[in-house]
Amino acid sequence: MADAVDVAQEVNDLHLRASLAAARQPVAIGTPGECQKCGDDMPRLVGGLCGFCRDGRRR
Ligand SMILES: [Zn+2]
Repeated sequence: MADAVDVAQEVNDLHLRASLAAARQPVAIGTPGECQKCGDDMPRLVGGLCGFCRDGRRR
């Protein structure tokens, strides 16, 4: 029977594996230009969108 320490260790392992997998994702290089959504001139666009528009947040 699993006790709380076993469960905590298992959750910790899952979190570590997920974090490592996320950290291994390649980061898109991006290009400078005008954002297709907000129209601002930004130093780095990925898929034609600036970081604010990609993340759905306002500056
Ligand atoms: Zn934008």
